[in-house]
Amino acid sequence: MKLDGVPVAVVGMARSGVAAVELLREKGADAWGVDQTAPDIPGLGVLPQTDEAFARAEWIVLSPGVPADLDVIETARRRGVQVIGDLELASWFLQGEIIGITGSNGKTTTTALTGHILEACGIPAQVGGNIGTPPASMVKTSRTGQWNVLELSSFQLETTQSFRAHVGAALNLTPDHLDRHYTMARYAAAKGRLFAKQTETDFAVLNADDPYCVAYTSERGQAVWFSSTRKVAPGVFLQGGTIILDGQELMHASEVPLRGLHNLENTMAAAAIAHLAGAPPAGIRAAVMTFPGVEHRLEFVCEADGVEWYNDSKATNVDATLKAIAAFDRGLWVILGGKDKNGDYSALAAPLREKAHAVLLIGAAAEKIAAQLRGAVPLIACGTLEAAVSEARLRAKAGDRVLLAPACASFDQFENFEHRGREFKRLVRSAASSVPVAHAKNSS
Ligand code: ADP
Repeated sequence: MKLDGVPVAVVGMARSGVAAVELLREKGADAWGVDQTAPDIPGLGVLPQTDEAFARAEWIVLSPGVPADLDVIETARRRGVQVIGDLELASWFLQGEIIGITGSNGKTTTTALTGHILEACGIPAQVGGNIGTPPASMVKTSRTGQWNVLELSSFQLETTQSFRAHVGAALNLTPDHLDRHYTMARYAAAKGRLFAKQTETDFAVLNADDPYCVAYTSERGQAVWFSSTRKVAPGVFLQGGTIILDGQELMHASEVPLRGLHNLENTMAAAAIAHLAGAPPAGIRAAVMTFPGVEHRLEFVCEADGVEWYNDSKATNVDATLKAIAAFDRGLWVILGGKDKNGDYSALAAPLREKAHAVLLIGAAAEKIAAQLRGAVPLIACGTLEAAVSEARLRAKAGDRVLLAPACASFDQFENFEHRGREFKRLVRSAASSVPVAHAKNSS
């Protein structure tokens, strides 16, 4: 792609946007940044987000966080300006093959696990996208013969044109981000861009148990399946307690260190992807067994007085919370709440009734959640995470588990889900090292 002297506006000056400006400039483009709040980043010439900022632009590159249908963008588009995302831009220059991983839940876990397997098997790879390093920043370190393992969101995929992944994977599709995509059909179509430019020599790793994923077989890539419910070929499935890869026993499910059926699904997807990238079954098994997991995803925090504490702060939607609850037996204390994302919390009623002693409610969504769960499970209004941790510390008995899997975004009380998770771990560890008040009274 010839970019010499081409005027390009990059919208959204967080990490991905800054990386895009740098890449564009390196390729000779006349690039500048545009941002709603016009942060003062030295050397980037950032303009406030008005029509004027785009007046000269021939191309617009959007950061993943920027909606593609903003008025200012639509106005520029009508003038004939080309609008793409940072992923499309990076894909023009990335050396080596691309593995793209998308889905509503499990992307980060599957991407990290895939990278871990390839590394353990000595297969050259670099990992990035949503999980951390922006694709534009990976260009410099990309090489022929190396795999670029990318975690991709619907927002990044939505604005692709020529982007092609040699291996694309769709893990699952459940309602999420409908504030930006409006309908499931449009959300599924945005994720489907991952497969749109594939050819007959490319692969689509698809969840055979998810009808939205199955529908992606209409594209040209060769389907490779994974399933936790039935035999599939070619691909990976769970039979009894064994994971089968292309007809051969890969490993026992009990050897997978991550909790929950959903993590077996992520493991099967990562195994299928890594196998396509050349990882041998024995290497895949050994690598899966040493995978430490990803922070804030059903992360074990500690055990205190026989009570185990788990941080699943990344469970920001109802489906992820359902999966988290399903990963445990009875004896749960579940912390729910935060910023509502239009969730239908009534779906949590049945599993909570079966498995939870009580729900500890926090944040702005507490009343809505209470209204939808009343009668199914005891509800304790805590307000803050700190109060919820103290309540759980007082009430939980040996053998119980306390689970932060809030089914909501974090932005009402925290900077992001990582902040919420770190805060939870800090509170839990300091509570764990103190004697709970109720126990202190009992023993005096
Ligand atoms: P993503 O990057 O897609 O948000 P993560 O791996 O960060 O995915 O996990 C997000 C949340 O979803 C976590 O709470 C995790 O426990 C849950 N989760 C992980 N994998 C799956 C899956 N395959 N299906 C449903 N929920 C999942």
